[in-house]
Amino acid sequence: MCTQHEEEDRSTLNGNGSTSNGNTKASSRHPTNSKMNGDGDGDIGDGLPDWENIELPPDHILSHLTDAHCHPTDLTHAPEVYDAVSLGGLASMATIVDDQDRVRALSEEKRWYSARDKGKGKEGRGVGVVACFGYHPWFTHHYTLSSGSSLPSKEDHYTSLFLPPNSLPTSKNHQLLLQLLPYLPDPIPFEGLLDKLRADMVRSKDSGRLTMLGEVGLDGSARMRWPKKARHLHPDYRDEVNLEDGNQDGEGEEWKRLTPFKVPMAHQRAILEAQMEIAIDLGMNVSLHSVSCAGPTLDTLIGMRDKHGMSFTNRINVDLHSAGGWSPPFWTQAERNLLNLYASPSIFITGRSPSASQLIKSISPERILVESDSHDVRLSSRLVWAAAEWVSRCKGWKLEGRDGNAEEWDMWDDGETEEFDENGNVREDGKGEVWTVRTLERNWATFMGLIDD
Ligand SMILES: [Zn+2]
Repeated sequence: MCTQHEEEDRSTLNGNGSTSNGNTKASSRHPTNSKMNGDGDGDIGDGLPDWENIELPPDHILSHLTDAHCHPTDLTHAPEVYDAVSLGGLASMATIVDDQDRVRALSEEKRWYSARDKGKGKEGRGVGVVACFGYHPWFTHHYTLSSGSSLPSKEDHYTSLFLPPNSLPTSKNHQLLLQLLPYLPDPIPFEGLLDKLRADMVRSKDSGRLTMLGEVGLDGSARMRWPKKARHLHPDYRDEVNLEDGNQDGEGEEWKRLTPFKVPMAHQRAILEAQMEIAIDLGMNVSLHSVSCAGPTLDTLIGMRDKHGMSFTNRINVDLHSAGGWSPPFWTQAERNLLNLYASPSIFITGRSPSASQLIKSISPERILVESDSHDVRLSSRLVWAAAEWVSRCKGWKLEGRDGNAEEWDMWDDGETEEFDENGNVREDGKGEVWTVRTLERNWATFMGLIDD
């Protein structure tokens, strides 16, 4: 279990809430609407599928799908758990310092080579893992961009991030920050982490494994978690308002409160850009987090496009993971500006937005992927299948298994242009039908550069 994630209110921010024993609170956060779910009379609408009760297709259909964004190393999964995953692949994200080696180890165990003839999974069988290295925006306050003799003191680091330049020492936030300071970690020079990031990515790529930068990005709403060791300073604790709740686990493992402190976008953006420079230099794709800051995200991506030109747009692809709250018109604008931008809806995050179905409709057929964003691997197949079903509902596409077409197939034998025309648009078959899993499979292969677009 990643204690850093426990520090942050992950369950609130990713809507996941699953725990190490596999229980999940997600259903209560994502009540399914029976009206939206359809009632079996053929009109299934475009609502969110009931992922917990959804009927799974035969395993061979699931094996054509990849979970484009998940966090399996947040939990300790027994090897059999991975053996039971029916999906073809998982893109396993790293978020903090400790994750980087966990992701590398998992990707070495469940190999997925870019060369098709080298195989995938453990001993060539089962789910393959894409190694994704990177530093998540929720934790950027841990890092300083200074180095060597200019390293700031702990106090200077946190006050410069969290307080306005002219903050009065008597102000409430100033007082609070000084109170919490002894419980905050020393700032880590990001320079050293970037060196390791580059080394991890080069090593993974040179060994022929599928590799990405992720999870990186920007978050306009994330606030620093109240340090657990300073819980006695929290008003709730002192007033004993929620003492019973906080004490449920004896040591207060579940005790989660947020401080008022947000990391400035400029700092987040500098951390993101430094990592993206490495991805662009190495020609590696990016899994991008963007919550409550669609504008700054697009600015950053367009800045990269203008700086690097085709080295960015024609060499690497970016997956906007869960498309956190992006409006459909904004997505359409972004997609036009960035020919290398994809999006992967998830049930947990994308499903929260009231305009999510419209967003899915607005994503070009050849730019859409699917993901779980789960850290519980046992849920991945179900969540990815539900996302695929949701895409099929929104797009009006046929779904393998549900609508027939349940026989085995091999994308590589089907011919490279069968489903896409010369402009990269999905080519409908003679009956005007687009098949969801085949389209998502081909999109993933194009995104990762496994086939030419
Ligand atoms: Zn994530």
